[in-house]
This record gives sequence, C-alpha cells and structure tokens, in this order.
Amino acid sequence: MDPVVRYGIKARYDGECGLCGAPVKVGERIFQLPKKRTGPQGRWVCAPCRWPDPDRVIDLDFVIRKGEQRIAKGPSYTPSMAEIDLIVTAFGYLEPLDQDELVVLKMLRDAQLTRQSPTMGRAKTAVIVRAMLRAKE
Ligand SMILES: [Zn+2]
Repeated sequence: MDPVVRYGIKARYDGECGLCGAPVKVGERIFQLPKKRTGPQGRWVCAPCRWPDPDRVIDLDFVIRKGEQRIAKGPSYTPSMAEIDLIVTAFGYLEPLDQDELVVLKMLRDAQLTRQSPTMGRAKTAVIVRAMLRAKE
C-alpha cells in the first residue's frame, strides 16, 4: 500500500476533506484514498473518512456538507449506512414529499434492507441536500 494511503501526511495548508468537506488545518494528518476508489487523480481526505470512525457525529449538518462537497467536486455520493439511516429518518418529518424525493427515499429504504449503499449522481445528491436543508427548518 502506498505510504500516503496508509500513513497520510501532515497538511501543508488549510483546506477541506475531499470527501466530506470537513475543514482541515495545517499540520493535521490527511490521507490519500486508494486510487481504485477515486480514479487516477486520487483524493485527500480527513482521518475519519480514511479510517471510518464509529464516534463521528453523523447529523444533518454533516450530510448537507458532505452532499454539497460531492455536488461541487463530484463525481458521486455513496452514503454510509449511518448517513442513510439519518436521511430516511429526516425524510419522515418532511411529508408530503415530491416525486424526486420519493424516488430517492425508495432507493435509500431498499439500501437499508440490502445493506448496500447506492451511488448517487449529482441530481439525486441535490435532492437529498435540499430535503435535509428543509428538515433543519
Ligand atoms: Zn472527511
């Protein structure tokens, strides 16, 4: 395994995680995702994205920030099971849902049954972000 994938490096300047959009400060450890997960350009991510952290708080703000990051930087958003559970719960407070939201909700409910995270393009990710912003109101 490439050392920057296994051990990471210290960030040389302030930035943000390439996956979840969390702010990264100079000197914090960042990691490169394996290229098979991201394509040839690689992607620098924060520690909890590289080595999933069960203590990480998955809340509406987290999902919104990650969704916006995925829309801006692409190519897609593959929510974790914890994120899917949160999004489905939040949709429950939003009824009535529009047609796009119903389609996304069905995908996510199916994912809860199969335990397979779906990969969403920008359009479906945008539906999620819009709904999560509404859920925060
Ligand atoms: Zn991250």
